[in-house]
Amino acid sequence: MPSYKILIAGAGLGGLAAASCLTKAGHQVEIYEQAPAIGEIGAGIQVSANAMHVLRDLGLEPDIRRVGVHPGAYVFRLHDTGEVIQRFSLAEEHERTHGAPYTQMHRADFHEILAARARQADPDIIRLNKKVTGFTEDDKGVELKFEDGTAARGDFLIGADGLKSAVRRQILGDAVATYTGDAAWRITVPIERLPQPHLEKVMSVFMGPGGHAVCYYLRGGALLNFVGIVETEEVFEESWTMKFPWEKLKADYAGWHPALQAVIDHADKDQCFRWSLHNRPPVMTWSTPRATLLGDAAHPTLPYLAQGAVMSIEDGAVLTRTLAMEPTIPAALKRYERNRVDRTAKVVNQSTANRRLFHLNTEEAIRAEFSKRNEGADRNKWLYSYNPLTVELV
Ligand code: FAD
Repeated sequence: MPSYKILIAGAGLGGLAAASCLTKAGHQVEIYEQAPAIGEIGAGIQVSANAMHVLRDLGLEPDIRRVGVHPGAYVFRLHDTGEVIQRFSLAEEHERTHGAPYTQMHRADFHEILAARARQADPDIIRLNKKVTGFTEDDKGVELKFEDGTAARGDFLIGADGLKSAVRRQILGDAVATYTGDAAWRITVPIERLPQPHLEKVMSVFMGPGGHAVCYYLRGGALLNFVGIVETEEVFEESWTMKFPWEKLKADYAGWHPALQAVIDHADKDQCFRWSLHNRPPVMTWSTPRATLLGDAAHPTLPYLAQGAVMSIEDGAVLTRTLAMEPTIPAALKRYERNRVDRTAKVVNQSTANRRLFHLNTEEAIRAEFSKRNEGADRNKWLYSYNPLTVELV
């Protein structure tokens, strides 16, 4: 099996997971990250079985179980009364059905676990303060260029540099981004501040006119994660670290369920963040002979299905497999792409479609829609059942 020197742009969740899949398979990897320090924002992330197979294969399951929460169920509720409209089991049932758990974690904990695993292969695998500006390629390899005027050479490049990817821009041009009409709030609140008993330890989605709110627990239940999606004509920068006035958050959720009011009331008022969400339609190709994309750089996904990071982890595992199956890099990158475009496009489109589902304007419309669908059965059938380590590759 060939062993390559692989350059990765971006030490996000996708780049780090891919690096460990690749070093485990015997490749040499260098990760170039623009940030001066490694880290993630204070928010939650959900990881379903389809990514957990890969994380388990990397030996990370004990660490993930240590920091994670396994929610009992996925529960859809009305925004004001909290009445449960549909509920599907997670925890034991997810693990029994798919052979791996559904886990909710603090993003910083998950990122730290992935970074530590990548550094097991090479303590210097992550090079910080290295902003990628572009690359050149020839039939022998690729040269990655950095803002500081330096360059690195490898056999091929993976652009895992997220939503505003420089590598994607060079391969595909700027992605066409259309404002969805939604902004996403994020806050976390220590549980001891909240009146008890509070929300059940499940994944709760409150659906209402003009918005929805997602609540779940982190760090063994010590922290509550709140993501609120609201329709608004105010468009701001697409930045997860943009602070927004607490008073606006309070106003956005006026009249919603008391449990949500308690979360908002007990948040740190200077730690409320809001981000404008943009839609980018899927593309059917994202590689050159010596460069490819992975994660949000390849298929930016709206957060309405909680699968963006999961897809990036699937990507890394499938790419590692295609490198072992094909005699040349260009063939392996094409095969990787061929096996990922349809699935990731389906996830992108389904996430976008969920906006409509979560923002139905009346209680009657919500009841009517959910009476026709079974979210749990549907997701079990096509989404969570995929195993990137064993799926047949065409
Ligand atoms: P990123 O995490 O964006 O990482 C990219 C990295 O590249 C960063 O470290 C960045 O600094 C670096 N970089 C960027 N440009 C350069 C450059 N020029 N040079 C060098 N480095 C560069 N997904 C899930 O699976 N489950 C969830 O529950 C979930 N919840 C979400 C909730 C919300 C509200 C949102 C907005 C998203 C959610 N997602 C979720 C999606 C998930 O966050 C993303 O899909 C995931 O972070 C993508 O990982 P990535 O590694 O591709 O990109």
